[in-house]
Amino acid sequence: MVVDEEQQQQRENVLRQEQQLFEVQASDCCGNGCTNCILDNKPKPSKRVLLAGKRNIILAYTKFRLIGKEAHRFDDHVLLLHFGAADEADDVEDSVLDIPPGHHVMLRVGSLLRPYSPYWSDFQRREFRILVKLQPEGPMSRHLAVLQPNDLLEFRGPIGNYTNDSSLTKCIFIVAQGVAIAPTLPLIRSVLENEEDMSRIWHLVCARDLEHVYFREELLEFGQNWNYRSCLYLPHQKCDSPACQSSDHCGPECQELRRSLRYKEVAKVARLDATELASHGNSNIPGQRVLIVAGDASFQKKMKEMASHSLDVDPANVYLL
Ligand SMILES: Cc1cc2nc3c(=O)[nH]c(=O)nc-3n(C[C@H](O)[C@H](O)[C@H](O)COP(=O)(O)OP(=O)(O)OC[C@H]3O[C@@H](n4cnc5c(N)ncnc54)[C@H](O)[C@@H]3O)c2cc1C
Repeated sequence: MVVDEEQQQQRENVLRQEQQLFEVQASDCCGNGCTNCILDNKPKPSKRVLLAGKRNIILAYTKFRLIGKEAHRFDDHVLLLHFGAADEADDVEDSVLDIPPGHHVMLRVGSLLRPYSPYWSDFQRREFRILVKLQPEGPMSRHLAVLQPNDLLEFRGPIGNYTNDSSLTKCIFIVAQGVAIAPTLPLIRSVLENEEDMSRIWHLVCARDLEHVYFREELLEFGQNWNYRSCLYLPHQKCDSPACQSSDHCGPECQELRRSLRYKEVAKVARLDATELASHGNSNIPGQRVLIVAGDASFQKKMKEMASHSLDVDPANVYLL
């Protein structure tokens, strides 16, 4: 009884501390018109953090140390950055890092704010990873390009509105564009790693070509699960064969492309359009239809419109990351 009361007291203290820590002002918005703006999605203490009786270290701007930096093997303008909390040893015991699937964090350098979506995070070790596409002339890209191991950067979050009720069986269509595939990975892991979640996932990945499909190995691993299917849409895929060079992209029968694909990997040299979307919707499979779109604002808008017709998804079940 005494232990229960103590635990309750501890949880209430954590809740109070978190509420005090997290106050959002108009100046906390990055001004980029994010679908899930920090002003409308103020982070709340999660059940997971409350149960742990600890504080979520990222609720207020917190310094993280760069642990690892790697350029993507086919594109040196795409970086994989790994960060870990940089606080004092005393704080290690009473804090965790909670970035729920589908949520992003805000990076602050001086007055410059930009959102990034972790593709991996570790609750106890308080580490996370992001995939960054450097934009030519972009102010934050300039900072990130020259970042060195042990450099410190400030992040805050988590920001977003995605939730998943694992007790409800769903057909989840996840459409990802380019580097925006990153935030879809934790979502997928959370479904596949939960044996009680009977939902099925269709992962529709839009990239220029095979070399720009990020996390390809991980997608292949996901493919070993009964409830995961992916399809790659690669409109600019072009091999060295004379026929594909002259038509500026591989044809549907291209043997070179077939040889490049791995076991169970499905790819189409086409854009994802309404007909293609509809081809993934199978009305015989029961379950609520959910659509998740990760990409820039115009991609999100287009996919949302197309999917409402092609996949019969209720707008209430659409999440734009
Ligand atoms: C919710 C959210 C999550 C995000 N997560 C990530 C992430 O995980 N990784 C990542 O690399 N970026 C992500 N971004 C974009 C990121 O916040 C920055 O915009 C980007 O890193 C460029 O910042 P910058 O200051 O260098 O250039 P900016 O001044 O922001 O942009 C420079 C130029 O590039 C264009 N541009 C910016 N972003 C894109 C893009 N994604 N595609 C095409 N053109 C673009 C701008 O329109 C502008 O013309 C996310 C954006 C949002 C809204």
